[in-house]
Amino acid sequence: MSTLVFLMLLVAAMFVLGMRRAPLWTWAVLAGVAALLWQAGIADRGYNLGRLGFWQILGWLPALVLGLLSVRAIRRALVVAPAFRAISGVMPKVSETERQALDAGTVGFDAQLFSGRPDWSKLREVPAITLNDEEQAFLDGPTEALCAMIDDWQVRFRSKEIPDEIWRFAREKGFLGMLISKDHGGLGFSAQAQSLILGKIASRSPDVVTIVMVPNSLGPGELIEKYGTDAQKAHWLPRLARGEEIPCFSLTGPTSGSDAATMRDIGVVTRGLHEGQEVLGIRLTWDKRYITLGPKATVVGLAFRLFDPEDLLGGGDDVGITVALIPASHPGVNIGRRHLPSGAAFPNGPNWGKDVFIPIDWVIGGEKMAGQGWRMLMECLAAGRAISLPSSAAAGAKAMLRFTSAYGRIRRQFGLPVARMEGIEEPLARMVETAYVNEAARAVTASMVSRGEKPSVISALMKYQTTERMRSAVNDAMDIHGGRGICDGPSNYLQSAYQMVPVGITVEGANILTRSLIAFAQGALRSHPYLFKEIQALQESERERGLADFERAFLAHASFTVANFFGAAFHNLTGGLLIELPEKPGVHGQWYRQLVRASRNFALVADLTVALLGGGMKVKQRLTGRLADALSELYLTSCVLKRFEDDGSPEADQPIVEMAVRNGLYRFQEALRGTIDNFPVMPARIVMRWIVFPLGAPYRPAPDRVSQQAARLVVQPGEVRDRLTRHIYVSHDPDDPTGLLEVTLAKVVEAEPAERKLERAVRAGIVRRYHDRDWFKEAVDKGVLTEAEGGLLREVEALTSRVVAVDHFDPAEVKPSFAAVGHNSQGLDGLAAE
Ligand SMILES: Cc1cc2nc3c(=O)[nH]c(=O)nc-3n(C[C@H](O)[C@H](O)[C@H](O)COP(=O)(O)OP(=O)(O)OC[C@H]3O[C@@H](n4cnc5c(N)ncnc54)[C@H](O)[C@@H]3O)c2cc1C
Repeated sequence: MSTLVFLMLLVAAMFVLGMRRAPLWTWAVLAGVAALLWQAGIADRGYNLGRLGFWQILGWLPALVLGLLSVRAIRRALVVAPAFRAISGVMPKVSETERQALDAGTVGFDAQLFSGRPDWSKLREVPAITLNDEEQAFLDGPTEALCAMIDDWQVRFRSKEIPDEIWRFAREKGFLGMLISKDHGGLGFSAQAQSLILGKIASRSPDVVTIVMVPNSLGPGELIEKYGTDAQKAHWLPRLARGEEIPCFSLTGPTSGSDAATMRDIGVVTRGLHEGQEVLGIRLTWDKRYITLGPKATVVGLAFRLFDPEDLLGGGDDVGITVALIPASHPGVNIGRRHLPSGAAFPNGPNWGKDVFIPIDWVIGGEKMAGQGWRMLMECLAAGRAISLPSSAAAGAKAMLRFTSAYGRIRRQFGLPVARMEGIEEPLARMVETAYVNEAARAVTASMVSRGEKPSVISALMKYQTTERMRSAVNDAMDIHGGRGICDGPSNYLQSAYQMVPVGITVEGANILTRSLIAFAQGALRSHPYLFKEIQALQESERERGLADFERAFLAHASFTVANFFGAAFHNLTGGLLIELPEKPGVHGQWYRQLVRASRNFALVADLTVALLGGGMKVKQRLTGRLADALSELYLTSCVLKRFEDDGSPEADQPIVEMAVRNGLYRFQEALRGTIDNFPVMPARIVMRWIVFPLGAPYRPAPDRVSQQAARLVVQPGEVRDRLTRHIYVSHDPDDPTGLLEVTLAKVVEAEPAERKLERAVRAGIVRRYHDRDWFKEAVDKGVLTEAEGGLLREVEALTSRVVAVDHFDPAEVKPSFAAVGHNSQGLDGLAAE
């Protein structure tokens, strides 16, 4: 046997064992056989098989070491126990609030992506968008009606608040109690239904959706439904469901924003007077800001740190973060003043109180839930983050696309609709991709929540990814509209979204923090198949049990790392062509393969990152941010393939899917490349580069041909445009600025052949198009157009001039209405002291 063949066989056998996660003893056998063959080969060239020299001993060394390590007691003494001691020092220390955040929620498809071998059946078994009859009727009836009532300009400029008739309608129809169960007087809708209802309202008014979103997301309603005492449920839930009580939830304060757990708001357990009787209660001092619905709230959900110096609850001094529900009218509660967030109209403001006494019964869940506030919040956030903001961000992206694709087709410059120009097609294609991807991921994630999952890692990445993409869609919409998008007024349908983008970016975990600290850094702990088990074992108080748990997890982790090493190398060298396809892959088999390959690479890099950086990962946020992006691209692209299948694989959508997948894989690759290029441990950097990119970077962004096809599909009224913008509010009323777009687009498309004739005649100087002439009549008189064509073009001209018009005002009309009103930036220490 030649040395080359021998080495090839050896490497092939190593790949087989590595990828199959073969036990250690099989590696020992392989090493033994290889040593024997090697020695025999050397013997051919004159050495004696029976004599053991230096090279022979060296050849047998791997077999010997692996053989010894196959013996459990030796392995434990030489490897596992020293690793146990060494890793204890470098593993991230998990604080109590972090542990509660980690414990909250469930692990689902994210774990598949971390595993490097995603099981597609796990994603495919998530139901496609399904609503029951009642939910569908609510979406088509009251939700549609609510949207039709909204006059965006009136809301955000003239009255600068949500009109009473909108509040009334929302209350009467039950919009404020969608998540409250039917038993307690709410609508008890699924997460998917809530997501679609919120999305439809968001596509009409980001201000109005806020008043519906807050009572239906993290806040008093949800907390009482899940953790409240029976008495609290009976008292509050029917009132909240009917909108007789308006809730707000107060967590953030001037000193505790992203780091909310470090709040300075405190409660002290004591006895005091309530309604004339001495009761056990809490004396509270707090200062909160940015609280949505605060100025309108009748009941305040308040998070604070509770202390019990006299041990009246029997659990020691520092009880922990606690949440109570306090009527806004309670003596000492200061609430009602407004912030002006991005000039938006939804109610938002500070609240504070000093030495306010409340009975202990007001703690959500009663006395037994004192100190459980952070866990409750994290559990609600694990699911809630997947619903509210992704719904608005998906709807916003779809609305931006619907408006902009119409405007781009209607608005002509240089004799062409601007949407036909390549420079405009580029951002338009980006908007198509965002609308498709955001909706794909929204739908899948909402279905996961509907069936009981609380996908904490997925919801974190959904929050930051969908709102970031929405921001890009709004900016593209503004650019494509030119001055028409910038000048504000009743006919401007972009400004409310433009104003509200920063709000979505900032709330429920500001995006930078969510990307760099939560999605991957916590995700790795949560979704990695072994890491969390190892950390738990390391923190186990009983050493022997800890060591045994650690051994199990550590050895499985080691074989996982080896499998990723060989699996990634193999698939990268073979271009993923040998990856097994899922059942019925349809036309997109190649993308499934590339996603599995990408997932293998991600698993390898993620694994080495946590193993080599350990606790240092928290401060390497450029790396964790990139890995969060990589994980996000894997998830979102998987959702794109699922959406295509769930939609019945419509052929017309293929260019959109191809564009989204190619771009997703490309961004994934760049995120991973950035991680590897900047990896602080040099040998690992070299190995990862060699394994992940053995033949260079394989993915390119979608070619212009494909993105052009995608952009052209959306400027055409019809099935693809409707599917891309489904579930948003679409007006067909020519007196509504967005309805006018729809009406005009249909006419513009109908009139295009006549328009071309007219354009040619204008260019040839046969017809002159200036303000003082009737060029339609001239064209008809000169035989350029028929009477009908002239009439149609005249109609289009009238409609188009309304579409491109911007509002202008008398200067007195636009004087700020709040110029003379006093303002103050102080809370607890300022206003309260006055
Ligand atoms: C309009 C609006 C409505 C709101 N509604 C509510 C409400 O109803 N209830 C409520 O309790 N709160 C509410 N909030 C508060 C909101 O949740 C906070 O604004 C948010 O948590 C960020 O806190 P901060 O604004 O103090 O920013 P900061 O915490 O000061 O953060 C500043 C920047 O630093 C980044 N950052 C912070 N820490 C890290 C880190 N460790 N690593 C990397 N980056 C980091 C953040 O991402 C951000 O970009 C609202 C806020 C706004 C603006």
